[in-house]
Amino acid sequence: MDHAVRHHRPFKVTYSDAKVRYTIVCKQGCGWSVNARHEKWMKAWKITSVHQPHTCASTETMHCHPQNTAKYLGRRIAGIVASDPDVTVKVLVQTIFGYTGYRVNYSKVWRAKQHVLELVFGDWKEAYNLIPRILNAITHYNPGTKWTICRDGRTIPHPTTGDPMWVMKRVFWCFPQCVKSYEYCHPLILVDATFLTGKCKGVLMTATTVDPEGQLVPMAFGLAEGENNESWEWFFALVRHNVLGRDRKICVISDRHRGILKAVSQKMEGLPPLEHQWCMRHFAANMW
Ligand SMILES: [Zn+2]
Repeated sequence: MDHAVRHHRPFKVTYSDAKVRYTIVCKQGCGWSVNARHEKWMKAWKITSVHQPHTCASTETMHCHPQNTAKYLGRRIAGIVASDPDVTVKVLVQTIFGYTGYRVNYSKVWRAKQHVLELVFGDWKEAYNLIPRILNAITHYNPGTKWTICRDGRTIPHPTTGDPMWVMKRVFWCFPQCVKSYEYCHPLILVDATFLTGKCKGVLMTATTVDPEGQLVPMAFGLAEGENNESWEWFFALVRHNVLGRDRKICVISDRHRGILKAVSQKMEGLPPLEHQWCMRHFAANMW
């Protein structure tokens, strides 16, 4: 693939059997070909014959090179992404241009980067599977951390064993240091949610407060399927019980999402009612 891309000589696969043999020929039909056979005893592929060179004409960069795929590019940029996962797609586009002579479009390079992130950090679903273990580990090293996982009603079969697995719906966590500091902060809680941009959608909900020096202090976090009445109600109940407590009347500041307003107005046994105010930044943005 590397050779095919760098020399602008696309190939096509004419025979492919994952356990036996593999044949590729020049896509322009000049007679260039490579045959490979799987050697069981070596557990590897061996090139058995090569017919070369290419006698076809064009060696220009092509508009659409069949081997210049996101997966191929992923392997090219793997080293860079592994050592710096925050490297921008723009930089990668430039790197790929330097290496292959192709100025690949943004979305394909973005996909290539996602592919590498998956190779390096494991796949997205697997990362969600680790959430209970990670939260347990955090709690072990930071006693007093509170967390809860809310299950979806369904179970799905495990892809290999077929055993039923429960489906995660939402996660909530807050750290004891933050909750302790809340006593010394303004009786405010700023609430908002942001979309998660990875493969698995959903939102990250946060509750933040302001300390006496005017600095933001994060209080609690939630992962949910989206912003709706139920998810906000769920998040608020946990924040009120775990963070806000029963001693002070608290003012909530938000972008006035319908779910937030509904959750704020809800009465909870033994807890003071909440006051709600507009977030002026959101207000100004909406006005604009
Ligand atoms: Zn050829």
